[in-house]
Amino acid sequence: MSVIDTPDKLPSVDRLVNHSSLSALLVEHGAPLLTRCAREVLAQARVSVLAGQRVESDELVESVDTEVARALRPSLRRVFNLTGTVLHTNLGRAPLPESAIAAIAAVARGASNLEFDLEAGKRGDRQDHVEDYLRRLTGAERALVVNNNAAAVLLTLNSLALRRQVPVSRGELIEIGGAFRMPDIMARAGSKLVEVGTTNRTRASDFEAAINPRTALLMKVHTSNYQIRGFTQQVGEQELAAVAHAHDLPLVTDLGSGSLVDLENLGLPHEPTASEALLAGADLVTFSGDKLLGGPQAGIIAGRGELVAKIARNPMARALRPDKLTLAALAAVLRLYEDPARLAARLPALRWLTREPAAIEAMAERLAPIVQARCSGLRVGIEATRGQVGSGALPVDSLDSFALKIDLPGIRRPGKRLQALARSLRELPLPVIGRIADDALWLDLRCLDDEAEFIDNLQYLEIA
Ligand SMILES: *Cc1c(COP(=O)(O)O)cnc(C)c1O
Repeated sequence: MSVIDTPDKLPSVDRLVNHSSLSALLVEHGAPLLTRCAREVLAQARVSVLAGQRVESDELVESVDTEVARALRPSLRRVFNLTGTVLHTNLGRAPLPESAIAAIAAVARGASNLEFDLEAGKRGDRQDHVEDYLRRLTGAERALVVNNNAAAVLLTLNSLALRRQVPVSRGELIEIGGAFRMPDIMARAGSKLVEVGTTNRTRASDFEAAINPRTALLMKVHTSNYQIRGFTQQVGEQELAAVAHAHDLPLVTDLGSGSLVDLENLGLPHEPTASEALLAGADLVTFSGDKLLGGPQAGIIAGRGELVAKIARNPMARALRPDKLTLAALAAVLRLYEDPARLAARLPALRWLTREPAAIEAMAERLAPIVQARCSGLRVGIEATRGQVGSGALPVDSLDSFALKIDLPGIRRPGKRLQALARSLRELPLPVIGRIADDALWLDLRCLDDEAEFIDNLQYLEIA
């Protein structure tokens, strides 16, 4: 072991890469990767040495090892979502059931009958793998799957309302985090948004007054991530459908999350289902595949046959179509819906959403002493907390849950220490994502499935 205290004592990139302790890595991953990592390590060492620090040559070898491990780590990877928000858009929304994961792997591995009719021995349609399920589960005549619900709305408007008017209530001109704003989507679809009513009150007569020969359809948007309370009035599906149909216009409802089952049966608050909206008179509904449905990212358009057929013929449908992995996963998830009695047990999104607070509390009691042992100097307690569904679904309802609450007793402004702790948890092999609130870091355990894996992961925790 030698001490390096001036830049000229640093080894060359070549010598470092060919150090005997790195030979196994070199064989496994090749010279280009090791060279890139060695350059990085040497550049950092140079800065340290110039700043007057001494560097051990063994440290350089170790740093290359660490740097290689970092470089090999995929950018997109699994994390523990302990934020309390179940369908967290930034954390990938719905977890998939094992059957869907297996279905993805099966079609990913080789050729598949994606657009091939095995019975007839000729070209088939990729939508055939899911359309029957969707018809049965929504009561729609036809259904079409696209990339996501934003694409479903865009494609529907572009197909049915190009250069024509679409009245929407002012109370429903939503923005869904990021870049999805209804007025912008309308413009990009080539449709002219006509705002009717006021923010808090819209009547059927407001829609009546807005209809003219340039009107293409009436639209209802589920105000998925907010609620207007107080002196309010909205036009329900049934009433709006009557107005639309009296003028020979279709009613399109963007359900946002939507659901294929009545969540009240599972003890959750009500969320409009696709079949309810269609039964109430909507001619088309659009909704997401990875929100309450609990599947892969997808958008579903379902409703009247000739409208869906027209949308499917739009050349833009090709640009927005789902890939085979999505279709494989979606079909596997929809299959679970055909056995409603066991759905909540088999579909992870619903399993998490319906988890009993007492079961979460019991998990917290098992984990608290283990986490406490890894976090000396910190206080780990168990607290009741409230989580949420997420992805805009059921925005004002909360899910009673339990969390590990980690705080720093006796420290008046723990902000920086808590940020550092949050960072340490994010740096674990399986990053743990919690939430900082009320001078504590909260780990809501609702979405934790594998306690053993969580505990094993903690052995790498290094608290700064
Ligand atoms: C979430 C949502 C969308 C966008 O759906 P994605 O699947 O995220 O593209 C559109 N409309 C409403 C009402 C939503 O809640």
